[in-house]
Amino acid sequence: MADDIIFDYRDPLIGVITIFLLIFIASFVTYSLSIYNERKSRKEYRKLLERFELGNLKEDDYIHLYSTYNLPFDSIILLASSFLHKGQHNKAISVYLALLEHVKEPIKKEELLELLGEAYFKSGMLQRSKDIFLKILKFNPRNKIALHKLLFIFQHLNEFKRADEVLDALDELDENTKKERIYLQVLTTINDPIMSFEKKSVSLLETLTMNEKLERVIAEFLIKFNKELFWKNIDRFNVMNFIDLLWYLDFEDINWEKVNQKVILEDIYSAKGYIDKSVKSDNFELNILIALKNSTTPSELDLNFEFICEKCKKNHPIYESRCPHCESTLSFIVEPKLGKATLNLASLL
Ligand SMILES: [Zn+2]
Repeated sequence: MADDIIFDYRDPLIGVITIFLLIFIASFVTYSLSIYNERKSRKEYRKLLERFELGNLKEDDYIHLYSTYNLPFDSIILLASSFLHKGQHNKAISVYLALLEHVKEPIKKEELLELLGEAYFKSGMLQRSKDIFLKILKFNPRNKIALHKLLFIFQHLNEFKRADEVLDALDELDENTKKERIYLQVLTTINDPIMSFEKKSVSLLETLTMNEKLERVIAEFLIKFNKELFWKNIDRFNVMNFIDLLWYLDFEDINWEKVNQKVILEDIYSAKGYIDKSVKSDNFELNILIALKNSTTPSELDLNFEFICEKCKKNHPIYESRCPHCESTLSFIVEPKLGKATLNLASLL
């Protein structure tokens, strides 16, 4: 009997059937499992998408999208940048930090570090931002983004010597650093802790001819700390480059003798209503205001100012030596605009 059973098992037909049966069961189980997993994944993915539509993606979700769903790196970065646009810098920082642990390729790591440094910078954490950009330079000393950012950070932190070193590095990469060097020289003078205001004023006036864009920075310094020297040298300036500063000057700070020697200054202060000298002006806005001041009809029109970046063409309500949109140095042009009298933003700073 036992021999029969052994014989049965050894029957090649039964063996073949058993093998097919096992293969079938294995395939069925694998198939069912894959369907189950796919459905589970789809459900999770749908949930994730719903959360994304609601703008509620958490930091971990980005890692999930990258490592589990293989969403391309660039798409993840684009999604994470939505935090930056909403001003949620800390969230963007968390995403970048989490991604840094998962990303292996050096190029992607470098890109993530650039974004992280930028996010730290935008959230005002300049030291951390500096550390990140210095770290990038350790493995890629030719990274221009990191060098430009460090130049800005060193200037902000009054580390002018280091800013100068960055300019040397940019020179070696054939970047045009002429304007940046002159501006750095001016910043170094203005922020010198030992030099007297008198010496600073003289030194700044010497740099005036180097670049027309320096006029405003130097005029602003002189108006603040050395009005006498400012008025004495008024002919060396194109006053339309800082008409807003002159417009908001207090009556008693104006040198009327100098005003009477220069038509455009007479126009500005006639339009302002301080004097009654000009009857018309070559400048459109000043001309309208002068005409209104000379008419009997009362007017609420006043001069307002806009600052337009020469490079990115974006408008800004106050003057900044570096454009907050494209980070160009001394790229703002002041544009007088007619409008209702508004609060002087510059005077509040
Ligand atoms: Zn700009």
